[in-house]
Amino acid sequence: MISVEEALEKVLSYVGVLEPERKPILDCLGQVLADDVYSTMDIPPLDNSAMDGYALRAEDTRGASESTPRYLVVVGEVAAGSMPAKEVRPGTAIRIMTGAPLPEGADAVVRFEDTDEDSRKSSRGKLSQIGILYGAKRGLNIRRRGEDIASGELILKKGKVLRPQEIGILASLGHSTALVIRRPVVAILATGDELVGVDQTLATGKIYDSNTYTIAAEVSRYGGIPRILGIGRDSVQSLNEKIGEGLDADMLITSGGVSRGDYDMVKDVLAEHGEIGFWTVCMKPGKPLAFGVIKKLEGRRGRKVPHLGLPGNPVSSMITFEQFARPAILKMIGKKILAKPCIQAVIRNDVVNTDGRRIFARVTVTHCGGQYYASVTGPQGSGILTSMAKANGLAVIPESSKVVKAGDMVEVQMLDWGEEQGGVKTTVESVPIVSIVGQSQSGKTVLMEQLIAEFKRRGYKVAALKHSRGGMEIDRPGKDSWKLAQAGSDAVCVSSPDKLALIKNLDHDLDIEEIMPIVGPEFDLVLAEGFRKSKIPKIEVHRKELGYDLLCSPEELSAVVTDESLNMGITQLSCGDTVAIADFIEKNFVLNKR
Ligand code: AMP
Ligand code: MG
Repeated sequence: MISVEEALEKVLSYVGVLEPERKPILDCLGQVLADDVYSTMDIPPLDNSAMDGYALRAEDTRGASESTPRYLVVVGEVAAGSMPAKEVRPGTAIRIMTGAPLPEGADAVVRFEDTDEDSRKSSRGKLSQIGILYGAKRGLNIRRRGEDIASGELILKKGKVLRPQEIGILASLGHSTALVIRRPVVAILATGDELVGVDQTLATGKIYDSNTYTIAAEVSRYGGIPRILGIGRDSVQSLNEKIGEGLDADMLITSGGVSRGDYDMVKDVLAEHGEIGFWTVCMKPGKPLAFGVIKKLEGRRGRKVPHLGLPGNPVSSMITFEQFARPAILKMIGKKILAKPCIQAVIRNDVVNTDGRRIFARVTVTHCGGQYYASVTGPQGSGILTSMAKANGLAVIPESSKVVKAGDMVEVQMLDWGEEQGGVKTTVESVPIVSIVGQSQSGKTVLMEQLIAEFKRRGYKVAALKHSRGGMEIDRPGKDSWKLAQAGSDAVCVSSPDKLALIKNLDHDLDIEEIMPIVGPEFDLVLAEGFRKSKIPKIEVHRKELGYDLLCSPEELSAVVTDESLNMGITQLSCGDTVAIADFIEKNFVLNKR
């Protein structure tokens, strides 16, 4: 058996980024741009009005108010799409519509509402004079040429995933097509003598083929083009024929026929056609899984088509698709983030792991009071597809956990989140975080130091956060950063090739949710000291000699680090046993997050 990571690495090693293609922009939604896009024009192309109103010289409105209007001669009108015929001279104005080019001589636009136009409207026809009721500053309601996009600017970088807004930008630059990484064609084959197509009548003993549809929908969802080959029968000949039909695809996905039954012959057929990658992955559901490449002769040069043989059980096939086929498709279409977006959640049920495989439990994730909770969606049989329909996440129970208890933290892959959503989330949920709390003199900082050293030894990238109620002494008088702050700067950021420091004045005490985006997402573990009021998991340090009660109530705590036995029904860890404390944190908050 190989691990999920090894299996994924192998699958990914067989697929590469596909070649670019040029397509109409509207067909490029969700695809990855294959070339940098530079602007060859200014947008907007000319200074223009942001409002319906009067283009004028700001100077001419000085002192204007409702009681002291400034009267200007109206010399013309300009609508969006036409050029002004006249210029604005002192004492004159031109009626202007939103988006219309600003006339020569004008340096501000006063909106209709700030003129006396309404009271003059009864006279019909064109106005010869207008009263301005508002003293305009230069530049008022003017959109400057090139303020959105300047000519020559790099607007969209190669690698950008095109969303509706990027497609709009391409259109605004006059591009009707874009160069994007092509989508892979994924051939899909269901196998099994028991299967019947959804448009056929169902004889006794047969079942409808659902995997074809689940898989095809998944392929489309992640950017591939599904090609349905239909149903292959459990015979070498039928499978050979069907697999042959799928060989001009970029990838072949079969379902069923990879376990140990007498009729499970996909692996044998695969062996005949090419190389077999692996058979069993240490996961549940989804243990029987095959991967290989089918060699296809094309003229004298061979071509290799990666083949993923998913298990037949509908839940297994979907979960293995998510773990292996999805990242492969994302890689082929040029996406950089291949990992499924994950959160940390408190699990609401016990999950027992009997045979040391990684369990993907179907869960419903809810969010409450700054914390995610995951509830298992009833029966978890690998044939129960409704367990997937009820789920919005897959809780990942590591191979090493014999049991996960209700109340433990688990990692959950979010089924419906886009991959970018996982990438940009730098919140408390996306990085494992624990805070060490306790009375003053209880030894919080000593424990922090020991834990940091221990986690560094375990290969973690650690961030430490410290809450200091009494302000802080970081900025030494005389240093440049101090001088800049002394001069009145509200924030001083010092950046060097290997360090970054930010010293920022605040108007309130930040909570962890606000601090984490500043700290960044790249850490395996964040150890915080203090922050007693935040909702993150907390461990309290307690010492007998201080004689104090606990600072937090037992319900708020994940554990107590103590030098005496407390009878409180929460996990107790011994002061000084850094390894055990680190083990506790690792098991409960980090899991296999690294
Ligand atoms: P297999 O991996 O071929 O032994 O199949 C395992 C289980 O999944 C069997 O109960 C099959 O009937 C079921 N199964 C296989 N393929 C499909 C499919 N395309 N749609 C629905 N169920 C399937
Ligand atoms: Mg079968």
